[in-house]
Amino acid sequence: MQKIAIPLIAGDGVGPEVTSASVSIIDAAVSKAYSDRAVEWLPVPAGQKAYEELGTYMPDSTLEAFRKYGLGLKGPLTTPVGGGIRSLNVYLRQNLDLYVCLRPIRWFSGVESPVKHPEKVNMVVFRENTEDIYAGIEWECGTPQASRFYSFLKDEMGVEKVRFPETSSFGVKPVSKEGTRRLVRAACRYAVDNNLPSVTLVHKGNIMKFTEGGFRKWGYELALEEFGDYISSGKLEVKDCICDAFLQNALLKPEDYSVIATLNLNGDYISDMLAAQVGGIGIAPGANINYEKGLAIFEATHGTAPDIAGKNIVNPCSNLLSGVMLLEHIGWNRAAQLIYSALERSFVEGYATQDLARLMSNGNSLSTSEFVKRIIELI
Ligand code: NAD
Repeated sequence: MQKIAIPLIAGDGVGPEVTSASVSIIDAAVSKAYSDRAVEWLPVPAGQKAYEELGTYMPDSTLEAFRKYGLGLKGPLTTPVGGGIRSLNVYLRQNLDLYVCLRPIRWFSGVESPVKHPEKVNMVVFRENTEDIYAGIEWECGTPQASRFYSFLKDEMGVEKVRFPETSSFGVKPVSKEGTRRLVRAACRYAVDNNLPSVTLVHKGNIMKFTEGGFRKWGYELALEEFGDYISSGKLEVKDCICDAFLQNALLKPEDYSVIATLNLNGDYISDMLAAQVGGIGIAPGANINYEKGLAIFEATHGTAPDIAGKNIVNPCSNLLSGVMLLEHIGWNRAAQLIYSALERSFVEGYATQDLARLMSNGNSLSTSEFVKRIIELI
């Protein structure tokens, strides 16, 4: 029996409901697809429960488990109020240097969408996770730090463009050549490995010449240096698009795009807009990955949904589809495919949790446990 060990964070709020649903469905699909493979789930502590029991939101042993096994599935975590940690998710990404936020976006037949042809949207977003204006380097207006930073800009850098210096907060946007290269490398590698036609560098380099413009320039350089053969033989197209134009084009001609590589802030907006286009904002999956270290944590993109926790109505699909990405990541594609097919069939027949079913013309609302049972039956 080939067993793969996967550390599992149950999460807070609806976390335990969505992760136990994912585990049941993934186990069913793996055992249906293979007679000689199984997942060994390793529960690891994190979040509110870990804090109550161990006095820390993210024990070192949990980080160590991710490092040791290189994989993880994670439910959503409450952001601690106060206490120095901005967000446990950001902490995890920074601590483990998970520099790619991977968000595949596809439509499932049967899911209601606000656009006429959601089936034309089939993209995979590589969002840079560690740099950009999201790096968390900022100072609030009125603080000594903000005033000191402004003095540095004015006195030492000759900056005269700050319109209202006394009432400005300041943020810093670091974008590096190394950070760009590893992100664009991962996007190109993914496109090549999955026979996808193009990688589009999405940026605002027309305005932010050295940061976003640097991303475009270094991205093209990397693509030519390391994937030149694929480009010259026509197997891979590498192109770029200014972000505002991309947001229009993604609505008007989504079929022109396949793999997207972009910086942190653009990627945040783009991922959710594309997910909304396929009606999937509530079920969009995601992963945070460091390809060099071989570390990948798969997680639901929604939060802990405290308003519905414990009511057996949460939609487990975002966490489940993140688990399906994990199966694909380790090459267990047959099990992944079984889950995709079962979900699609259930949606086409109108059976879904209430958040999706209420939008379907033939919708039948199921509780979380009824939905899990149905998907396992379909598998
Ligand atoms: P949320 O995503 O938890 O909830 C927003 C709304 O969407 C709620 O009405 C909720 O009921 C609904 N919803 C979310 N997921 C759903 C699902 N799977 N099925 C059905 N309905 C669903 O966002 P929030 O309320 O802004 O955040 C709550 C907490 O979660 C905060 O502490 C926040 O910091 C945290 N959070 C964690 C993550 C993460 O761990 N990745 C991500 C976002 C927010």
